[in-house]
Amino acid sequence: MKTLLDDYKKTKEFLVCIDSDGCAIDTMDIKHIKCFGPCMIKEWGLEQWQEPILESWNDVNLYTMTRGINRFKGLQTALVEIDEKYTKIEGLDAFVKWANEASELSNESLETELKKTDAVCIRKALEWSKAVNHSIDELSDDDKKPFKGVKEALAKVSQYADVAIVSSANRKAVEDEWSKSSLLDHVNIVLTQDIGSKAYCIEKMIEKGYDKGKVLMIGDAIGDLKAAQKNNVSFYPIMVKKETFSWERFTNEIIQSFVEGKYANECETQCIEEFEANLTK
Ligand SMILES: [Mg+2]
Repeated sequence: MKTLLDDYKKTKEFLVCIDSDGCAIDTMDIKHIKCFGPCMIKEWGLEQWQEPILESWNDVNLYTMTRGINRFKGLQTALVEIDEKYTKIEGLDAFVKWANEASELSNESLETELKKTDAVCIRKALEWSKAVNHSIDELSDDDKKPFKGVKEALAKVSQYADVAIVSSANRKAVEDEWSKSSLLDHVNIVLTQDIGSKAYCIEKMIEKGYDKGKVLMIGDAIGDLKAAQKNNVSFYPIMVKKETFSWERFTNEIIQSFVEGKYANECETQCIEEFEANLTK
């Protein structure tokens, strides 16, 4: 099958890959605070321990090194903690086994497992995941705005570099969010979960003829850093709760140092150290 990637032609010497959720678009906090956590409280009837459970959910999924993990891995962590600290979670072992062993963690894979085991926790996890999708669909466009400074950063960097969105979200959601905010004008290609992992997308872009020393990945989670490292390209972090600062620094300092070939030697290590410290509690 022919893809967008087959037709893609490099137009500039440099390439900047940018993650979407929680990096360019301010959607991570709202999805976890309004959708993922509250849907879990409701599905398992955890109202009486709501406050510490939600705080822990947000720490795992937003504010620490595990930021951005798969939803079912996040659920596994939360349910194991709840089972230990607050109340017994019926059928938990079956869910944990699935989360540790399944080759793919998705609603479809959970549905297949449900037919095999019929465990309460598997059924509830599936119901929860569907409720989360529904509640994310209900969020208004105002809840999905870019971080301050993203537009200016894109306008500037696109003068020097081709820009690729590299995201593990679904294509339609990403294209909608970026186009509603008029950000797509500065983007050369949109690579989302239908193409493959972030590391795979970066690898395919490098094959279009960019020198690895002239490729930069911008992301907000450790998984983004790892995708960059796997391809031997540079990484610039957008730090949670410091997104405006991160984007302004990118526009005012990092673009220049990147196109002069100095970023990797002069600032990258420090930026990554700050990023990791920001995700350590
Ligand atoms: Mg992200």
